[in-house]
Amino acid sequence: MLAKKVNPPEISGIKQEISPTYSMRYFTESIPKYQIPGDGMPANAAYQLIHDALQFDGLTAFNIGSFTTTWMEPEAEKLIMENLGKNFIDRFEYPETAEIHQRIVNMLGRLFNAPEEADFCGSATVGSSEVIELGLLAHKWTWKKNRIKQGKSTDNPNIIFGADAHICWDKFARYFDVEPRIIPMEKDRFCIDAKSVIERIDENTICVGAIMGTTFTGACEPVKEINDLLIQVKEEEGWDIPIHVDAASAGFILPFVNPKLEWDFRLPQVRSINVSGHKFGLVYPEVGWLIFKNQTDLPEDLIFYVNYLGDTMPTYTLNFSRGSDMVLAQYYNLLHLGHSGYTNVMNNCMNNARYLAHMLTDSDIFKLVNNLELPVITFRFKNTPVFTPFQLSQKLRERGWILPAYNLPENAHDMTVMRVVVRETFSRDMAETFYVDLIKAYQMLDETEKEHLEPNVSPRRGHHMT
Ligand SMILES: *Cc1c(COP(=O)(O)O)cnc(C)c1O
Repeated sequence: MLAKKVNPPEISGIKQEISPTYSMRYFTESIPKYQIPGDGMPANAAYQLIHDALQFDGLTAFNIGSFTTTWMEPEAEKLIMENLGKNFIDRFEYPETAEIHQRIVNMLGRLFNAPEEADFCGSATVGSSEVIELGLLAHKWTWKKNRIKQGKSTDNPNIIFGADAHICWDKFARYFDVEPRIIPMEKDRFCIDAKSVIERIDENTICVGAIMGTTFTGACEPVKEINDLLIQVKEEEGWDIPIHVDAASAGFILPFVNPKLEWDFRLPQVRSINVSGHKFGLVYPEVGWLIFKNQTDLPEDLIFYVNYLGDTMPTYTLNFSRGSDMVLAQYYNLLHLGHSGYTNVMNNCMNNARYLAHMLTDSDIFKLVNNLELPVITFRFKNTPVFTPFQLSQKLRERGWILPAYNLPENAHDMTVMRVVVRETFSRDMAETFYVDLIKAYQMLDETEKEHLEPNVSPRRGHHMT
């Protein structure tokens, strides 16, 4: 987040003579909000002030639009707390943490079906965005090296992805100076198709992006078809164009609920994959994973060897220092849940998503926009009431629910949808409560509108949400 300068109002000082035990006494003075206070305050006072102010934040349990994990088991939290001060980059100081990192990359390389002969490699990052920038940069580098080898120009690299891609794809294109060739979304199709990819590629295409679980609708893109057409292009033109699969959300879902679906390293053109550990990897925010199918997919000149901290260590990340806690928490989940545990959790999410989706379509008020390949329900109004999904979302917020409403991009941008991401914590009971509240909120808005349009009709009563 880019924070901006705020000019503080007049500041009144904090009285020093008050004994630290009487923390509440500090509550009768303003605190300097936008500059460091001259003197501090007792720990309990600072804690209480911040703790209370944060009650204004939404409740994570009711944030049903988010993909990111909001709950972990007490044992995971214990490990996190025990390792908070451990800088992940200090491999020499914390060799066991480095070993655990290595194990996770191996588990994921195999989860994504790297062929036996593939010597995959990878790294933890702070999230999928960092991964996507690093993954695509590697493909840009490989393309450039090949062009130089062939004595050809390296002036105009391009990358192909859909308008349904996450903002980090656009970021990559701008930050790393690659022309984005964006496939527009259509009203009847919310992801790219293989044909529109092939129409846009040329000898300067560094990579094709395919999204497994788009942020907008949870749709999964046809990676296999794209792969097959790229193989054909390779035979005909000699261009070996890699696919990067953005499996931020689906990377921890599909291998468990739909293992036969081929979207991963089983496909020859898929050379790198990202997954967010902090989404369906079931870890709190700050961990993503980058996996390259082969070490040769990560050009050697992008790897930096640092030896400030003891031994020599190869790194491929944008950040240097970072916490170890979420990497360790990821390992905890993998060990604790195992394959069957993840399968259970993901199947529960899928079943609860189907259950809620069913209620929504039965209501006759809403219709689904996607077809539930993942536990992500994107829906919209069946009819066109005078109010918008934004207003409905705002109404639900009164009850505490955080339900995102947003427009789809490009050609479908006049379509406003709402999204529920059914995560591990979204129980069936909660789905039912949410559904009741959703319908109530809809009816309240509907009635307010009717009263507005027909002022002679006496206002109805008893429509408060309780
Ligand atoms: C969430 C998401 C991202 C960004 O991932 P972060 O881990 O939040 O950086 C990228 N792509 C897709 C498809 C996503 O769902």
